[in-house]
Amino acid sequence: MAEIKMPMEPFRIKVVEPTHKTSREEREEILRKAGLNVFNIPAEKVTIDLLTDSGTSAMSDNQWAGMMLGDESYAGSKNFFHLENSIKGIFGFSHVIPTHQGRAAERILFEALVKEGYYVPNNIHFDTTRANVEVRGAHAVNLAVDEVYDPLSDHPFKGNIDTEKLEKFIQENGKEKISLVMMTITNNSGGGQPVSLENIKKVSGICRNYGIPFYFDACRFAENSYFIKKREKGFAEKSILDIARETFSFADGATMSAKKDALVNIGGFVTLNDDELAGKLKKLLIISEGFPTYGGLAGRDLEAISRGLEEILEEDFLEHRIAQVHYLGKLLDDAGVPIYKPVGGHAVYILADKFLLHISRDQYPGWALTVALFRESGVRTVEIGGVMFAKKDEKGEGEIFPELELVRLAIPRRVYTASHIHYVADALKKLFKNREKIKGLKIVSQALPLRHFTVRMEEI
Ligand SMILES: *Cc1c(COP(=O)(O)O)cnc(C)c1O
Repeated sequence: MAEIKMPMEPFRIKVVEPTHKTSREEREEILRKAGLNVFNIPAEKVTIDLLTDSGTSAMSDNQWAGMMLGDESYAGSKNFFHLENSIKGIFGFSHVIPTHQGRAAERILFEALVKEGYYVPNNIHFDTTRANVEVRGAHAVNLAVDEVYDPLSDHPFKGNIDTEKLEKFIQENGKEKISLVMMTITNNSGGGQPVSLENIKKVSGICRNYGIPFYFDACRFAENSYFIKKREKGFAEKSILDIARETFSFADGATMSAKKDALVNIGGFVTLNDDELAGKLKKLLIISEGFPTYGGLAGRDLEAISRGLEEILEEDFLEHRIAQVHYLGKLLDDAGVPIYKPVGGHAVYILADKFLLHISRDQYPGWALTVALFRESGVRTVEIGGVMFAKKDEKGEGEIFPELELVRLAIPRRVYTASHIHYVADALKKLFKNREKIKGLKIVSQALPLRHFTVRMEEI
């Protein structure tokens, strides 16, 4: 991999939270009690937590100051108007509807737009997006470019939708059977890979041509804009805000989990242009989330989101953010640890089946690696592979495994420093040297669906 400069943290630390060290014996005991499932480990026993970048950001002094300015009025809180202003300034849509997190935004949008038997194409659906489509009896369809499934292809925008596949899909199924097209930026379920503005324009053009609504799943829009600035011709001189505005100018609306690029611990929203649809969404919002000027959040949360959305656009921050993730990728790659390339925006993904060549897929190498890494170092990661996504084969006896067997190291925003990153890399390098000692696993008990949350395992 090319030289990666690690810029210094563009912040200094005002409040600290101690990390927790444990001994190897303690970690053995913790794993035993947890049934070798890192989801069952109390967070206090985790030294460095790379389980997710969702809701785990550190807020700034400016955001915390905003929390004290929470206006907790039931209707018309000033923080709502501030949030509305921030979102309109970036996204440019006329309606802003806050929700308690991203999946609530998806639920109300799909409840209004998606009907049984209809289709919702996306590059790759995130789990909650897929679930919210399928719960309506509709079909969630992935139409990403093939390169995303090749962990070594160096395509700069592996998050792109394959426009030929999209065009063909619309013609085969009929434009009237497609509720909306979504596009996830960056593509979380596909390695955190970005989408190019050229692709956004093309997909938007196809949707407009057929009269199909086009929405973004915009959780990591700022990281995506940064990749466009760095990798796409003609954007080097543009600001992140300009690129984000141009991105959203091609769509009819967006859903967003504020737990990602809004740098907060809870929150989400839908934003859109269609007046009639916005009216429907507000009715659905009132039933389960709350009045349209708070949508299931406190006034202080709305303020923190609006300030976070302004901070995420700072290029110094994004430069450090992406470099930190890529730096971890480079440390691992240089040591020969097999990783998904190019490294995406919010996480490094280890190719666990290549890391543990001696463990067959039916002994869950990805899961085994998450267990071994915690035992070695107290670092928590997540398997995105056979345990999370296996399907039953036709006879219902064996399992069909997903194409990629990954372990994700998701990096929370503004939480860890370069020395934490080194600690993680060193632990993985040591494991890689002694990888033959890592054992395969068998399932002792599981509850379907989403078995990864509850499964208990044993070493073979
Ligand atoms: C996190 C996430 C969601 C869901 O958001 P929640 O706030 O967790 O409900 C949807 N789409 C993508 C791409 C995400 O990363």
